[in-house]
Formats: sequence, C-alpha cells, structure tokens
Amino acid sequence: MDWVRSSAADMRPPIDLKTNVPHSARIYDYLLGGRDNFAADRQAAARITADWPNLPKSMRANRDFMCRVTHYLAAELGFRQFLDIGTGLPTEPNLHEIAQAVAPESRVVYVDNDPIVLVHARALLTSTPQGRTAYIDADLHDPAAILGSAEFAETLDLDRPVAVSLLAIVHFIPDDDQVRDLIARLLDPLPSGSALALSTATAVSAPEEVRRGVAAYNANGIPLVARTKEQVEGFFTGLDLLAPGVTLVHHWHPDAAAAATDDAHVHMYGGVAIKR
Ligand code: SAH
Repeated sequence: MDWVRSSAADMRPPIDLKTNVPHSARIYDYLLGGRDNFAADRQAAARITADWPNLPKSMRANRDFMCRVTHYLAAELGFRQFLDIGTGLPTEPNLHEIAQAVAPESRVVYVDNDPIVLVHARALLTSTPQGRTAYIDADLHDPAAILGSAEFAETLDLDRPVAVSLLAIVHFIPDDDQVRDLIARLLDPLPSGSALALSTATAVSAPEEVRRGVAAYNANGIPLVARTKEQVEGFFTGLDLLAPGVTLVHHWHPDAAAAATDDAHVHMYGGVAIKR
C-alpha cells in the first residue's frame, strides 16, 4: 500500500487497491492495451472476452468517441470547460490533451472513484500553463461532493458553459431513474448552453454476444447493464440532442477509422446534448 496525494495539501491514508479483485477500470485499461492492471484483472478480462470477443473493439470505439466528442465540443462549439466523470486510467490522448490542443486555456476537472485511478492521477495533471486540470476522488452517486469540492470551484467558472462527460460509466448503474436523477443534479447548477456527452452499453448490434458478456461481467462481481436506444435517449430528456442523436458510438461524426468499423463490433450508444 502506498501513501498517495491528490494535491500537495492533501495527504491521504494508505489505500487498499484490492489488486486480487478484478476491477472495471483496470479491465478497461488492459483491453485498451494499458499496463495499469493486475493478474486478477487480466484473468477476468480473459473470462469476459471468451464470452464477449468484440469487447476490446467496442471499448476502442468508445475511447475514439471520447476523442471526437471532445474535439467537436472544443473546436466546433467553443467549449473551454470540461467535467469528466468516470475518467478511467490515463490513456493517451487524455481529454485535456485533446481540448488543450484546440485551446490551451481549456480547463478540465476529472472525477473517478477508483483508488487506482487516484494513484495514477498525476498523469492527468499535466495541463498547459494557460489552462488547468484537477482531479477529484469522488463518486457519481454523490454529485454534491463533486460540485461542492474546492477543486471544482477553483477550476471551473459557472458563469460559462461546462461540458459534462459520462462516458462508459452509467452502464454500472442499473436503475434508469437513478441515472436520470444524477444527471439532473449534475446539470442543475450549470448555465444554459452547457453540454452532456454520454455513452453506455447496448446489446442492439450483437444481442447474444452482449447478453453473454454482461453475464460474464456480473459473474466477476461487476454490475453492468445493456440498454435500448429509447432508454439512452431518456437520459437526454429536457436537453437538446445534437445531430445525429443517440447512435452507436462509431456513427457519431465518424472519421475514416470509425466509418470503416463494423456495427456488430460496437456495443455502445452515445450522444451529446445541450442544456436549454
Ligand atoms: N470515461 C473513460 C473510462 C471509462 S471506464 C472512457 O470512456 O474511456 C469507467 C470508469 O468509471 C472507471 O475508471 C471506473 O472506476 C469509473 N467509475 C465507475 N463507477 C463510478 C462511480 N460511481 N463514480 C465515479 N467513477 C466511477
């Protein structure tokens, strides 16, 4: 166990990374080719991908969606402030690198509840001098802890729009009402013109494979749910969905690689909407 700091002023007690228990963030990291994972995660990943062989491709399509959405928000819509909840382990390019490549003054607050992401958070705190990045060790289930934190107040200006991203996280929350309630509480203090980008698992493009894969996640102790398009659209109720609406993630403003991707390999819906 290591002592970790999320900021210079904040020494925390030793944390137990539970390296003998598979964890979603480290499975995701492993399947994206990262190194921040342990034997239990790799064994779980092997069991899950035996049932869900296209999961690595789907996760890659989701990560590429994050990149295109962030670039679109920064370059096309002029967003300079981002709140990314369920950041995951640092993976190049990280969200702030995409936003700051467009506008170096961009400010990004990252949030995750996994201690291993906290341990690696300094790789997310590599802002340009003109911009700023912060990391909050907090849970999506507690929006007040996120919105009320010192890091949030010091980094984001609530007089200007904020782009909130919930990418590959709400599939760990099975109850739709709970997800809608959390989204409402997160967006409530943000000004009109703020954005919500969301992606989450679906079985629509490969029903049998995803059904088996979801069961394998659950058997490894990780709750995961696949949703229909209507359910995902329901998360954007009251917001103005940008074209092309909720789509399989590789259909959202595709680049050449996304356009060449097979629907059957992508098990994530995504969309972006603007607060009125
Ligand atoms: N958003 C990134 C990473 C997705 S992996 C991407 O799309 O590429 C999902 C991440 O969500 C993991 O790092 C996991 O630790 C985090 N997570 C899961 N449930 C969470 C919760 N309730 N609160 C905060 N983070 C959570």
